[in-house]
Amino acid sequence: MSLIVMKFGGSSVADADKIKNVANRVIERARKNKVVVVVSAPGDMTDDLIELSRKVTDSPDDREMDMLISTGEQVSIALLTMAIKSCGVNAISLTGPQAGIYADTSHTKARITKIIPTKINNELSKGKVVIVAGFQGINPHEDITTLGRGGSDLTAVALAAALKSNECEIYTDVDGVYTTDPRVVKEAKKIPVVSYDEMLEMAGSGAQVMQGRSIEVAKKFGVKIHVRSSFKKTEGTSIMEEGSEVEEVVVRAVTFDKNQVKLSILDIPDRPGIASKIFGELAKESINVDMIIQSAARQKYNDISFTVARPDIKKTHNILNALKKTLGASGVIVDDTVAKVSIVGVGMKSHPGVASTMFNALAKKGINIEMISTSEIKISCVIKAADIEKAVATLHRAFELEKK
Ligand code: ADP
Ligand code: ASP
Ligand code: MG
Repeated sequence: MSLIVMKFGGSSVADADKIKNVANRVIERARKNKVVVVVSAPGDMTDDLIELSRKVTDSPDDREMDMLISTGEQVSIALLTMAIKSCGVNAISLTGPQAGIYADTSHTKARITKIIPTKINNELSKGKVVIVAGFQGINPHEDITTLGRGGSDLTAVALAAALKSNECEIYTDVDGVYTTDPRVVKEAKKIPVVSYDEMLEMAGSGAQVMQGRSIEVAKKFGVKIHVRSSFKKTEGTSIMEEGSEVEEVVVRAVTFDKNQVKLSILDIPDRPGIASKIFGELAKESINVDMIIQSAARQKYNDISFTVARPDIKKTHNILNALKKTLGASGVIVDDTVAKVSIVGVGMKSHPGVASTMFNALAKKGINIEMISTSEIKISCVIKAADIEKAVATLHRAFELEKK
């Protein structure tokens, strides 16, 4: 009997009826396979818990934050297990620590360091369906850590790798990965097969349907992912290594990220070591920097602007204010009215002119580009957040993704 890992996202377990629906899908699978299920917190529970913490304090302690937000997943595993058992199928719920998921010490965005699935294997050998809480692990201090937003995807893929199951099914509220968020562009088309590299860039640039780190792990361990609907039985999207099954297209998808903030530090000395100092301080606080631009030097001074994720805004602002004094900068600016739009596709490597088509399409709609960054298979632009939906629809049309 082969083993399959099935992961159900928050929207799939948002209420009692949905939990019963998930229970039925799991039971159906368990007739033919050994099944490990990973679940997220119900509905918006993680967001609600974060909001609640902010009502208690402006700067919640990171360890306690993990203690709080890891509870959502525990609600789901218990309820789903009850639902499965009430249908006469044997099942057991396990928290991340009980499942042997070990993580590092960086609270709220920990990395999985190892998985020791002894208990999972024991329970499977007793014929039980094993339901594991996503998004959480235990660190060397025996504290609970969480794996970054959307981290249940990572739990599922990492478990599939550790249990040597080469397939991981991600069940969600869409029936696959689309050419852009189908909630924003209704002409978006389902993509049957996408490469790990493209999905990694899509996730990193805002397509929240899969968490980025889960794709890194899938690529590293060769775990094939099938993204599909919790509610429909249709085939979804396969995520796998680039090769014969992945059709090469110039632009596969348009993505966007409204969760970005731009910060600038002005009139800093133009000499070696300054950028290293600024980004070194940010790295010490585990703040991920996305885009960076440095202006051309004016009389031995220049400005550096960069973007970070919105939840890091306060920490980043404090660090820049402290650096302003030590570096003699003239000011720090925070702009939270920006967003990022990107195009992703493996075919970009060999097709010139993609950037100019993108910039042209944006210009025709009067959309100003504030920052640009590129990788081999992605081009991103920071623009005003107010323009983001217009930009996504424009680029989707410019690259004829509705015809795919
Ligand atoms: P879950 O709760 O199952 O983890 P998420 O909310 O994290 O689900 O991800 C599913 C959502 O991702 C969809 O409802 C959709 O609006 C959004 N999304 C963004 N970009 C895409 C895309 N390119 N393809 C499919 N869904 C996308
Ligand atoms: N519940 C967590 C979150 O909302 C993890 C997940 O849903 O994957 O980010
Ligand atoms: Mg998700």
